[in-house]
Amino acid sequence: MPRYDSAVLNGRVVIPFVGAVPCDVGIRDGRIAALADSIASTEADTVVDARDRLVLPGGVDSHFHIGIYRDLATDASSETRSALTGGVTTVISYFRTGQNYLNKSGPYRTIFPEVVAATAGHAYTDFGYHIGVMTTEQLSEVEWLVGEQGVASFKYYMFYKGLNLTSDSTHGSAYTMAETYDLGHLYLLMREVAAAGLRYGKHGRVSLSLHCEQAELIRVFIEEVKRSGPGGLEGYHRSRPPLTEQLSIAEALVLTDATRCPVNLLHLSSAEAVASGARGRRDNPHLDIRLETTVHHLALTHETAGGIVGKVNPPIRTEAHREALWRAVSDGWIDTIVSDHACCAETDKQELWRALPGFGGTALLYPYLFSEGHLRRELPLARIAELASANPARAFGLYPKKGTIAVGSDADLVVLDPRREQVVTPEVLGSAQDFTPFAGMHVRGWPTHTLLRGQPVFQDGRVRGAPQGRYVKRPVALHDGAARGGS
Ligand SMILES: [Zn+2]
Repeated sequence: MPRYDSAVLNGRVVIPFVGAVPCDVGIRDGRIAALADSIASTEADTVVDARDRLVLPGGVDSHFHIGIYRDLATDASSETRSALTGGVTTVISYFRTGQNYLNKSGPYRTIFPEVVAATAGHAYTDFGYHIGVMTTEQLSEVEWLVGEQGVASFKYYMFYKGLNLTSDSTHGSAYTMAETYDLGHLYLLMREVAAAGLRYGKHGRVSLSLHCEQAELIRVFIEEVKRSGPGGLEGYHRSRPPLTEQLSIAEALVLTDATRCPVNLLHLSSAEAVASGARGRRDNPHLDIRLETTVHHLALTHETAGGIVGKVNPPIRTEAHREALWRAVSDGWIDTIVSDHACCAETDKQELWRALPGFGGTALLYPYLFSEGHLRRELPLARIAELASANPARAFGLYPKKGTIAVGSDADLVVLDPRREQVVTPEVLGSAQDFTPFAGMHVRGWPTHTLLRGQPVFQDGRVRGAPQGRYVKRPVALHDGAARGGS
């Protein structure tokens, strides 16, 4: 009788913070049960042969937007399929009340269960949610969200204030459906998150994510660019220049120091932003500051992103900024790399100022990092797995259930063929999005298998079976412990 439900044999297994080691992986009840020199194929019901391939921990794409522009359940289904295609097995998605998503406001006590219910049964990856606390009323729900609902991370948008919003002149309060969404609200939110961190932090990190762009400056630069150009994505970059990120990070870090709230500076897009974040961390060793950048900010410039379809906040910038971000990755300042996946349609991307910001790219997380990061820029394989899996799992309370290859961890694994070359098209990414700013990009290294809790859910270029993704309550040590105590 087989000892294992399944086994991944003959591969080079990439273990974060350790390295790449040749070994076999035995899986039982959805978890890794053994790492061994050799497991006989007769010892497992199902065998995946990973000869000449790499075995990586399933990607944890910790910046995702399920349902931002489309029906939540429909989007959960199509976009987590895209995630599996590239080796992502867990997504942590942002949700907030206000315009987009469910287009309503109110207490999370009524809305959050609706969000999880709409995703469950449709997601092909495991999933969690970061929550945007938009109203004064919602501030008092932070503790409940962590302790009862498994939400270990929150969000504040530095640029949702005054008249400036994404691209048009919609009034701020109509968009956020909140009365006082300002630095005062941020201060109160940081106090709430810091307090929840003190209470629950021993089980895993509780943190606040910040979208750092400064609203009043953006208003001025948008007016200038609209008046005298340039147009296209270069104009968009100039309408929200690096200065707006830099000032916003400075504001955020003063409040971080005052409240001791653990923070994540999201999607850093410029040399100035990453320097500000790195300086903040170096000068404040008593604070917990983590830095994120995205696949598109590392891969694209305003000249290569395909025109208006490449509109995103903060903007895609220049080759010099792209190189500065890669230097920060190589030097160890960047903790996590994400897709900021937000599925929309090409028809949403026609005129620069009205176009929806954002686009999808989750399927490229591992292929792009392997191709550009490892093959071209010589990052160690373990570092690739840290950036795409272990570090986001640690930052958001999933580790070591997710984010590593160790006995007892969920058997979320990617088998990657390091020689397979792929030219990026919308079809290759397997998303509902009918365009991609990455079109035409060549990558080398593509998954042949993705396993979710031991099940081969992507294989032979196709997603297989029904959606099996589960909602994961974070920090996992808090909620797994409670489940065990109660059984
Ligand atoms: Zn985002």
